[in-house]
Amino acid sequence: MKAKRGAKSKTGQVRKKAAGKKRTVAKKDAKRKTAARPGAARRRESKAAGRERALRILTTLREAYPRAECALRHRSALELLVATILSAQCTDERVNLVTPDLFRRYPDSEAFAQANHEELEAMVRSTGFFRNKTKSLIGMGRTLRDQFGGEVPDTMEQLLQLRGVARKTANCVLGTWYGKNEGVVVDTHVGRLALRLGLLTSARDDKDAVKIERDLADLFPRESWTYLAHALIQHGRRICQARKPQCAACELAVECPSKNTFG
Ligand code: SF4
Repeated sequence: MKAKRGAKSKTGQVRKKAAGKKRTVAKKDAKRKTAARPGAARRRESKAAGRERALRILTTLREAYPRAECALRHRSALELLVATILSAQCTDERVNLVTPDLFRRYPDSEAFAQANHEELEAMVRSTGFFRNKTKSLIGMGRTLRDQFGGEVPDTMEQLLQLRGVARKTANCVLGTWYGKNEGVVVDTHVGRLALRLGLLTSARDDKDAVKIERDLADLFPRESWTYLAHALIQHGRRICQARKPQCAACELAVECPSKNTFG
């Protein structure tokens, strides 16, 4: 009997040791993952503290970027809508190179509705995903002509009926052209900065645009939403770049849980 008890306790010790080892490995893995994705660690703060920090971030952004605005060149709601559709997976600089000729050739929604597929494709080719973008522009032109009297509508519900228009594009047109803060534009810069600044509470990562928008809208005052997106985009381009953020030169460093976590 004694010998059996000894054997049992020995087995127990071995199991305990193995479990301990597993826990250590899991902890190391978690640490490694967090280190590989700086900013992934959520900041532990109450909602009230989060909103106060968001206001401080907003104040700093207003000081650093007093005139932050949309970088896509446009003179009308239609031009902004077209430029925003073209900006998917493309830089604003590239879109700004393409649009002057495009707007001369297609000055209104009727022109887009009647556009020749091949000709339009050739004009937007350099912005990438040109086949889909061409279909979107022609479809958008037709819906504007057939359902909205040729004008770009000013409500989220109506904008979302246009081909190629999702919330990001609709928010951009509503906020930038119509001055309506319906939501926050979430592009790659906004997603990245929101994650690094510890502003996400429900979004899983910096690609989860719908939840990122909800999290930001919950933290920042409504009247700041359009400005906030433009300012974060400028900060993402100037300082908090994807690969090499310049934390030492960053105006937001004091509020950022990810500062200096990049190797
Ligand atoms: S300190 Fe600034 S540059 Fe560095 S991660 Fe934070 S926001 Fe980006």
